[in-house]
Amino acid sequence: TTDGHAGPFAIPTDLLIGEVWVPATSGKRIDILNPATETVLTSVADASSAEGRAAVDAAAAASAAWAATAPRKRADILLACFHAMMAEQEWLAQLIALENGKALSDARGEVAYAAEFFRWYAEEAVRINGELAVSPSGANRIMVQYQPIGIALLITPWNFPAAMATRKIAPALAAGCTCILKPAEETPLTALAVAEIMRRAGVPAGVVNVVNASDPGPLCNDILHDPRVRKLSFTGSTEVGRILLRQAADQVISSSMELGGNAPFLVLDDANIDEAIEGAMIAKMRNAGEACTAANRFYVQRGIHDAFVAKLVERMGAMKIGPGIEGATQCGAMINRRAIEKIEHLVADAVRRGAQVKLGGKAPAGVGFFYPPSVIANVQPGSEILTTEVFGPVAAVIPFDDPGEAVALANATEYGLAAYVYTDDLKRGLQMAERIEAGMVAINRGLVSDAAAPFGGVKQSGLGREGGHHGLLEYCEAKYIAVSW
Ligand code: ADP
Repeated sequence: TTDGHAGPFAIPTDLLIGEVWVPATSGKRIDILNPATETVLTSVADASSAEGRAAVDAAAAASAAWAATAPRKRADILLACFHAMMAEQEWLAQLIALENGKALSDARGEVAYAAEFFRWYAEEAVRINGELAVSPSGANRIMVQYQPIGIALLITPWNFPAAMATRKIAPALAAGCTCILKPAEETPLTALAVAEIMRRAGVPAGVVNVVNASDPGPLCNDILHDPRVRKLSFTGSTEVGRILLRQAADQVISSSMELGGNAPFLVLDDANIDEAIEGAMIAKMRNAGEACTAANRFYVQRGIHDAFVAKLVERMGAMKIGPGIEGATQCGAMINRRAIEKIEHLVADAVRRGAQVKLGGKAPAGVGFFYPPSVIANVQPGSEILTTEVFGPVAAVIPFDDPGEAVALANATEYGLAAYVYTDDLKRGLQMAERIEAGMVAINRGLVSDAAAPFGGVKQSGLGREGGHHGLLEYCEAKYIAVSW
């Protein structure tokens, strides 16, 4: 296994197509880097379009039997996946920390969150209920049945390599769909390990297939033009989401899109400041800021502003930065050099326009893709960091006077994924939540992610929802049968 961390099995590094792990026919491999050391951990098979087609063949061959598998049986298999994954929580967390760079504590949290999708959708698999109504004319009955939508292509990002995979695979399987998973090329090992866990837990051959590719464009494009494929679920950048939506349009493939965010974090004068700081630490620093739900802009009401900044600087400044795999680390490495350069650019732009660096603000010299927890205050309108996801441990703080103004500032973005509001006046908090243009609003909480809740965005943050009952319906078609009796 990787870096000597022994697990229950050697982590597969080939492609899962049908029953077996197979190498790429080209013989090509993709090197996987440890972002904390910039050294190669191992390599994985690099698929081309031929393997993409083989994966669709395998998913198609398994499709009818899986759709016909009793819901209770599908539920039992998903529950077995939950227990199998939790049994390997520590080992998987180490693997995530190694290839993604995040702190072990974050990685443990991710494994538990990821496994929870198996449990939740095991529970959903036996509750795919239809509807029966009398038509308004009284002439017939309207019967609605939810059927599996068909073969799904699932494309996931590197920031939550386990959870983004299970958040898609679990509802697909619960609904009776077979799938092809295309993990991010930076972090394929976690997905491969999860696939092997699922295989060992009893998921039949061909139900889940995994392909990695150094050049995912042609592979995914070909899969999306295979007439057998009926579903695309993507989590990643808005830019790539747009490309995929255009490709999916050719065959009118149902598409769920979890794209970029630019989450505002609003703190009102009447908020409990210690609770707001606690929430801010989670909303900003979970995964070292590498989350699409991460608070990107802190709008803090004037009366509480200076105290909030001082406490945030104190808490973020106390965080231990280092390789994720070291137990004491609280802020791990960023994914790659490009990520560091993007953060540096956004901070430099904000400073040039008048922001003040209160903490951090400079990447350390030396090996590894590290950036320290940073607070920049007094960020001026027009600064790029207010419209671009920083995707790192940088908190941009802006004061405001009037809560109405804060909602307008929160909405001044093309994105609409998550938003956070801290106030002790719940009535006002709920009124603001209704007016904020976001798919998810947290009131007096720094975390929205929950396998039982519909996760997703409005505006250019995406289409559709993952998690909860809504997440299951993304993999179902409503079949309407008109019947007279
Ligand atoms: P990020 O910028 O955070 O790396 P991306 O949107 O580039 O996010 O990547 C998310 C996922 O999309 C990854 O699995 C990546 O391999 C995949 N991807 C990137 N470009 C394409 C493309 N043209 N077609 C299909 N998948 C792609």
